[in-house]
Amino acid sequence: MKEYEVIIIGGGPAGMAAALKVNNEGCKALIIEREERLGGILKQCIHDGFGVLKFNERLTGPEYALKYKNIIKNKDIDILLKTFVIEIKKDKDFHIKIINENGIHILKTKTVIFSTGCRERTSKQIFIQGERPAGIYNAGTAQYMTNIMGFMPGKNCIILGSGDIGLIMARRLTLEGAKVLGVYEIKDTPSGLTRNIRQCLYDYDIPLYLSHSITKIFGKERIEAVEISKVNKNYELIENSKKIIKCDTLILSVGLIPENELLEDLGITIDKKTNGAFVDNDFMSVEIPGIFICGNALHVNDLVDYVSESGEIAGKKACEYIKNKKTNNKNTKVDINENFLYIVPQYINENSNDEIIFYFRSKKRFENAKLKIFLDDKIVEKNYNKLIPAEMEKLTIKNIKNKKISMILE
Ligand SMILES: Cc1cc2nc3c(=O)[nH]c(=O)nc-3n(C[C@H](O)[C@H](O)[C@H](O)COP(=O)(O)OP(=O)(O)OC[C@H]3O[C@@H](n4cnc5c(N)ncnc54)[C@H](O)[C@@H]3O)c2cc1C
Repeated sequence: MKEYEVIIIGGGPAGMAAALKVNNEGCKALIIEREERLGGILKQCIHDGFGVLKFNERLTGPEYALKYKNIIKNKDIDILLKTFVIEIKKDKDFHIKIINENGIHILKTKTVIFSTGCRERTSKQIFIQGERPAGIYNAGTAQYMTNIMGFMPGKNCIILGSGDIGLIMARRLTLEGAKVLGVYEIKDTPSGLTRNIRQCLYDYDIPLYLSHSITKIFGKERIEAVEISKVNKNYELIENSKKIIKCDTLILSVGLIPENELLEDLGITIDKKTNGAFVDNDFMSVEIPGIFICGNALHVNDLVDYVSESGEIAGKKACEYIKNKKTNNKNTKVDINENFLYIVPQYINENSNDEIIFYFRSKKRFENAKLKIFLDDKIVEKNYNKLIPAEMEKLTIKNIKNKKISMILE
């Protein structure tokens, strides 16, 4: 049985950043990736906007991934492609069951870094009445078809949900010659980044309809039309607001969910707010030491730069754990008030003297928001002109060793 110090599951930007850090820290890493190339979701994101924070450049997804791949290929990092992790067991070490063209094998490792990314919510998870004809795609699938396979998903498209992938696909399909008839969002605020609303919809005259949803699908073989209705603040349908719109394609952009089945099988509880695990400031699971989680598997990030950053933290901390430099978990929960959608990490290792990076989202829109951070008796205040759930915030706090920490957003 082959043994490693760190096994990284998932070769997207989080996994690649983690592997490089592990290598820099002098430990032996293996990346396991189920696809035939490294790069994760970046491979299909041919628009630019990646790497502004990390490289001070506006790169496309494949360019961002290539920067990492070029460094990795010259390092002593093992990579298993076209290999799926199907099970993990733990005694003193972790035993990782993999399947690939050579069969089923078990690998042994002291630590595991989960960088498995996330997947899209599907049509089965949002209930729409009517038939189930062809022509209904998740935005990421439509993106894969258009950018990797070179196929057009359709000519007259409706987009349901204003998530970033849907917004990016609205622009992409328009550039490829399709007509995007509109983006329909059930909430009264958009789900995607403000910059994507502007650059992907308004710059291309694609209308955005807030407080609207699709209530019925028509068509037997291929989708032919959808019924759209207005909704009130409680998402209840408004009488007499129904409208039928002809289309041949429906694209769903209704949210991403961290891919965490392997963690759940290990008995790790999933935080209902993030859909990821509960971790401390080292991104180590608070339930099973030796498991580190980073990137979109931990919570859905807006920017790939933050994804890479979390991979680096997980990689560094996994090595410290192996070298027994990481003092054992003595965690305290970070208390937050109801105005937070979530905060990551949710716990702080009390013995940690590091500066701590928090990522958080607000539950609703705030103008001139105030964040009060209580460190024992000391209060630090931070002001934000605007906070919206669609945009993640990053917060760095120093000197919190042995302190209780709570935060109030108002
Ligand atoms: C459509 C779209 C547009 C985006 N646009 C931007 C943008 O403009 N700017 C920006 O900064 N960010 C953007 N992002 C965000 C950014 O791409 C993601 O945040 C980032 O790719 C997430 O990285 P990750 O490594 O966590 O996950 P992923 O990139 O999803 O990688 C996870 C990897 O894990 C592998 N894997 C999962 N489970 C297993 C298993 N059991 N065994 C083996 N391998 C496994 C998967 O195959 C995958 O390769 C966009 C994202 C999307 C989806």
